[in-house]
Amino acid sequence: MAASYTSVLAESLAPDVLDRFLRYVRIDTQSRRDRTSSPSTPGQLELGRMLVAELEEAGLDDVHLDDNGYVRGTLAGNVAAGGGDVIGLIAHMDTSPDAPGHGVEPIVHRSYEGGAIELPREGTVLDPAAMPELVDKVGHDIVTSSGDTLLGADDKAGVAEIMAGVAHLAAHPGLPRPTLRVAFTPDEEIGEGATLFDIKRFGARCAYTLDGSELGELQDETFSAVEAILTIHGVEVHPGQATGKLVNALRLAAQIVAALPSAALTPETTADRDGFIHPYELTGTTGKTEVRFILRDFDDDLLARHVALLEQTAKQVVAAEPRARLELTVREQYRNMRGVLSAVPDVTGAAEAAIRAEGIEPIRRPIRGGTDGSRLSEMGLPTPNIFTGGHEYHSAREWASVQDMAAAAAVVVRLAEVWSRDGDG
Ligand SMILES: [Zn+2]
Repeated sequence: MAASYTSVLAESLAPDVLDRFLRYVRIDTQSRRDRTSSPSTPGQLELGRMLVAELEEAGLDDVHLDDNGYVRGTLAGNVAAGGGDVIGLIAHMDTSPDAPGHGVEPIVHRSYEGGAIELPREGTVLDPAAMPELVDKVGHDIVTSSGDTLLGADDKAGVAEIMAGVAHLAAHPGLPRPTLRVAFTPDEEIGEGATLFDIKRFGARCAYTLDGSELGELQDETFSAVEAILTIHGVEVHPGQATGKLVNALRLAAQIVAALPSAALTPETTADRDGFIHPYELTGTTGKTEVRFILRDFDDDLLARHVALLEQTAKQVVAAEPRARLELTVREQYRNMRGVLSAVPDVTGAAEAAIRAEGIEPIRRPIRGGTDGSRLSEMGLPTPNIFTGGHEYHSAREWASVQDMAAAAAVVVRLAEVWSRDGDG
C-alpha cells in the first residue's frame, strides 16, 4: 500500500473515485439564487441523469430522478440481523454561484512534492503558506481546476465518494451492509437542498451528508441561521429644493451599519463558537434603502440576542428622524442540528466508529455554516456531516486530495459494516 493511503481498501477505491469525480466536475451544475424552479439550473439535471445511469449500472434498485431534480437509489441490505435499518447517504450536485463554475477543466497533480502549485490560468496559485492543510498532503495526488473556475469538490467529491462506496458494496455482496438509500440533492448552495426532499419516501432512520472538508472531519453541529432585511424609507426631494425636507435613507442605512459592532460579532473578527451579525448587501436610493444581513450563532439564545441588537440599533437610528420609516423582516434559515442529533447519539457514534475503522482520528469541529443536514435533521432525518477531502471551497483555488477522497469512500464502506453490526444501536 502506498504510504499516502489510509488503507488498502481506500487505495483500491481511488481510481474509481477519481474517474467519477473528473467526469462530474466537467458538468456545469452551478445553482442560481432566487430560483423560480427546482433545480434552479438545467446542468443539475444533466448530472442527475448521469448519476441515475451510473447507479443502475452499479446494481442499485429504485433508481429515480424526480421532477425537482432529486436523485434517489437503494442498495438492499444483506444482513438478517440488525432490525432492518435503512441508512441514508447524501451529497449535493450543485456548485456555488460565488465563483465561475462553467467550463471546469480539472488537473491532477500527481505526487505533490510540496511548495506552491501554479495553475495555468488567471495566475491562480495554491500557496501552502496560506493553506495549512496542503502542507500535510505531500505525496498525495492533488486535483485542482485550471485556475479560472472553481473545482466543484463541494460537493462532487461527496457524490463521487458515495457512488464509489455503494458500487463497491454492490459488487462485493460478502461485505455486510444495512439497506442503504442514496440521495443526490440540487440547490444546496442556495439553501434549498432540503426544501423538496421527500423524507417520508426516503424512509431512512438517519443519514450522512458527505459535504465536509479535511480528512477525519465529523460534524454534528452547525450554526443556527437567520436572515434579516432592513428597509429604510426616507423622503426624496430634488437636492436643489431639499432644505429642511430631504430625509436620506442611504445615510440612515450607513449610520445603522456603522453603529453595529465592528471589532467583534463580525465574520472577520470571530472564530470557533462565536456568532456574528453580517451585512452582506446594501442597495438603495435616498428615498428607499435596503440592507441585507445574515446572523449566525451556535446558541439559539445568543442568536436571538443578535437579532434584538440589530433591531434595537436600527430603531434607535431611525427614531432620530421622525419622517423616516423602518421595516424589518426576519426569516429563520436553518437551526443547529445538535439539538436533534444529541437525542440519537448512535447516529454520530456510528460515523465515528467508521472513521476510526479507516484508521483516522475523527476531528470534531462545529461547522460555521449549514449543510443539507441542518434542515433535514430539523425535518426529522438526523443527518451529521462527514469529510470529503476537498478544500478552499467556493473559489478558483479549490482543491481535493485523491487519497483523502478515497478515504471518504472507504468510510462509506466501513459505515455500512458498522450499521450491520450495531443494527438497532
Ligand atoms: Zn457543500
